[in-house]
Amino acid sequence: MPPPSPPSAPSSTPPAALAGLNPRQLAAATHRGSPLLIVAGAGTGKTTTVVGRVASLLDGGVDPERILLLTFSRRAAAEMVSRVGALVGPSARQVWGGTFHSVANRLLRHYGSAAGIPDGFTVLDHGDSIEQLGLIRADEGLAQRGKRFPRAETINSLYSRMVNTQRPLDRVVEEDFPWCAPHVDDLRSLVRAYTAAKRANRVLDYDDLLLFWRAMTTSPVGEALRCLFDHILVDEYQDTNALQAEIVAAMVGHDTEVCAVGDDAQAIYGFRAATPANLWDFPTTHPGAASIVLEQNYRSTMPILEVANALLDGARAPVAKPRRLWSTMVTGTRPTLLCCEDETQQSRLVAERILDARERGIDLRDQAVLFRAGHHADGLELELARRDIPYVKYGGLRYLETAHVKDLLALLRILDNPADELAWHRVLRSLDGVGPATARRLAEELRINKPKADPLARLVDGIGRFPSQAAEQAGELRAALADCAGGRLEPGPQIDRLGAFCRLTFPARYENGLARLADVDRLATAARGYTSRSRFLTEITLDPPGRIGEVVPPSLDDEWLTLSTIHSAKGCEWRAVHLLNAADGNIPSEMALGKDDGLAEELRLLYVAVTRAKGELTVSFPHRFHVNRFANDDRHVYARLSRFLDPLRPLFDELVELTDDDADRAVPLGRVGVAEEVDGVLDSLLGGSSTATATGP
Ligand code: ATP
Ligand code: MG
Repeated sequence: MPPPSPPSAPSSTPPAALAGLNPRQLAAATHRGSPLLIVAGAGTGKTTTVVGRVASLLDGGVDPERILLLTFSRRAAAEMVSRVGALVGPSARQVWGGTFHSVANRLLRHYGSAAGIPDGFTVLDHGDSIEQLGLIRADEGLAQRGKRFPRAETINSLYSRMVNTQRPLDRVVEEDFPWCAPHVDDLRSLVRAYTAAKRANRVLDYDDLLLFWRAMTTSPVGEALRCLFDHILVDEYQDTNALQAEIVAAMVGHDTEVCAVGDDAQAIYGFRAATPANLWDFPTTHPGAASIVLEQNYRSTMPILEVANALLDGARAPVAKPRRLWSTMVTGTRPTLLCCEDETQQSRLVAERILDARERGIDLRDQAVLFRAGHHADGLELELARRDIPYVKYGGLRYLETAHVKDLLALLRILDNPADELAWHRVLRSLDGVGPATARRLAEELRINKPKADPLARLVDGIGRFPSQAAEQAGELRAALADCAGGRLEPGPQIDRLGAFCRLTFPARYENGLARLADVDRLATAARGYTSRSRFLTEITLDPPGRIGEVVPPSLDDEWLTLSTIHSAKGCEWRAVHLLNAADGNIPSEMALGKDDGLAEELRLLYVAVTRAKGELTVSFPHRFHVNRFANDDRHVYARLSRFLDPLRPLFDELVELTDDDADRAVPLGRVGVAEEVDGVLDSLLGGSSTATATGP
């Protein structure tokens, strides 16, 4: 591998947009003429440098539409673009910013028709993909062969891993899902059937978006795609997967400059096939790349960085160049290890510490509570509600994955793509008395999934025999869909209109059905500002809000606390961070135990959590976990402090809130071309003989 070339010298006087960057950051922001890799530890200003680089490009006259900024979440893209805007003005808004999936979606809609992908495809979210696989699994009778067959979720993970790591099915099964080996032939045909169903229903799943994007780069529109951007910048490059790295390379034309930024010590998406090897291989994939290392951490005080450094010292994971974080903020509060009796006490103490910090001048907006899994915050959420502390929760069970919200989105989806069979079934099944058999009959009558049929028009025209108890609901469904299909209503009012139908179905379908209607209003509010239903639906599917609170702040009062999974806290920072449930089994998560790479990833996750804190870090650890926290049941298990933190205790001030008793015990798609190519790629990954051939989307 050729050694990376040194960066070019920064220009003599930096533009105002770059004021405040240190010399290395400035060199990175102003480097031109070759690919550029910035590898650096947490809080060293990587994202700040990317923002500076975009500002410097705009300042130098680069057309904002010719800059592509790929980020980890839509939120990150919006924030970076707004920071660029503050430096150089409103032209920043025209920069192409977003996640790989959302940019793929946008490119497919713009350029897909030239590559043979017809307009009007819908995007299946993760849950929909699993549902579709589940239907095929049932249709093919795989579940009834007397042997345990992998569940739809497992099949989805296996398929996704195959696509994103670009390894053949046989290898993925052998290396990552060995218990599925006896079923490999059935899995192969099931995945083929899944692909065929997606093409017939004109839907793409997340993985397809990337596959189709890559396929477009080698299609007749490939050259046009490569001419689109003069600059491609990728933040958090350590969390991209093999397919994404290939896409970046394939988008680089003669005059494109690419800049990737990342930190291998923060690689936390291996479970989704991301690999920091992309970072390490960058100089090979992009020959002639310059490389810049940033060293000074500007975010946290030294007492916090000492914990972070000590964590990495214990890392057996390969970190290319071990880096020690340092900061000029050498003094500061030592981190606190809060040892609690149980989760209930933890919730109470953490809430008190949050309020106390607020009294000391750290606003709720400057504080976050982080946790490994969404449900770890359940008890705290109750406590916060009791104390009237507003919060927004990111990560965990996604609001859009709740059943009633999916019902509503299914209505929007059939309006958007009347060929979307899965959405039709969901809608039909939401009516009283419509079970699988009736839904199938109705699908026949409406000619759902029949070529050239218009099931929406047929339904609105009164076709379809619904059970008598659903007569009123069916009438309302027809009327609501007719009103929304007409093009008179914008997406927000369409959701209001569909809400009238939900009012008839939710109460019988769900416990708390009436309370769930509030989510219809919230979704309608989120849709305001969109003029296109299709755009709203796609954006919300690709980058769903954590909870609706992310779309609509909890109240007009602009003070709220952030609750977030560690994964969703990537790239963020707060003055005070409270980390919950630092017990073995929670972090490292039980599921990662026993796998070396899984364990190493858990350690990096803890490193990410710790490095989010600027000035105050509290790590809390409940000794007892109740088997059932919400029932009147006192059975519990004793936990041990996370194995990663135990050796680091001297770096913390310990606050022990235990009874003596506990302290003693606590030890332990379309015209051939692209669609065909994608199917060909899938076929070669699947191996074996091909049976199903996909028809055009
Ligand atoms: P992460 O690894 O968590 O993504 P990062 O390397 O992207 O972190 P940033 O988020 O860009 O780091 O910066 C961390 C903090 O340091 C921010 O508050 C930023 O404003 C500040 N910062 C970055 N560079 C400088 C600088 N040259 N002078 C002062 N503050 C800086
Ligand atoms: Mg960053």
